[in-house]
Amino acid sequence: MTKPNLIEAVRRLHEDVDADAAPIVQANRRRMKCKVGCHDCCVDNLSVFAVEADRIRARYPELLEEGRPAPPGRCAFLDTEGGCRIYPDRPYVCRTQGLPLRWWDDGPDGVAEFRDICALNEPDGPPLVKLNPDECWTLGPYEGRLAQLESERSGGGLHRVRLRDLFSGACSRSATR
Ligand code: SF4
Ligand code: SF4
Repeated sequence: MTKPNLIEAVRRLHEDVDADAAPIVQANRRRMKCKVGCHDCCVDNLSVFAVEADRIRARYPELLEEGRPAPPGRCAFLDTEGGCRIYPDRPYVCRTQGLPLRWWDDGPDGVAEFRDICALNEPDGPPLVKLNPDECWTLGPYEGRLAQLESERSGGGLHRVRLRDLFSGACSRSATR
């Protein structure tokens, strides 16, 4: 089980993500369609580092023990209205969903910058290539910070947990709508 200080470190990391994401949301406010009930991005089979899963375990023991996961095909934590049942404690990946993302990867001519955004948020704003770097969420730094916490938790390993598997008996029970 994760030590309380690691859960607190994950909480602080999420707080920092929200603070860093806020000006990017503001810069992209005309194009952002994210709202409660919009959940195309809340797909099934999302997995998170075990250290992030432990924050959810610590905060929602009753939901995980007695609640039912959403039916297969969507994130297990969606409620029947399309809202997130763990919203204040949702993992990192859910906190930056919908923002213009930028990262570096191998391209045909070597390492290059790539950009992407949820298809619903693509219109009503300048083309992604025209955005300043500080108007995009840069992948890498927070992933590194999370990996460090996970390594600390797992004694050097990088264990991942499927969100659906956090529910007790998740295989045999699912919520009906
Ligand atoms: S944890 Fe919440 S925000 Fe994240 S994918 Fe699931 S329902 Fe969506
Ligand atoms: S990222 Fe896309 S699918 Fe997800 S809430 Fe925002 S607009 Fe909806």
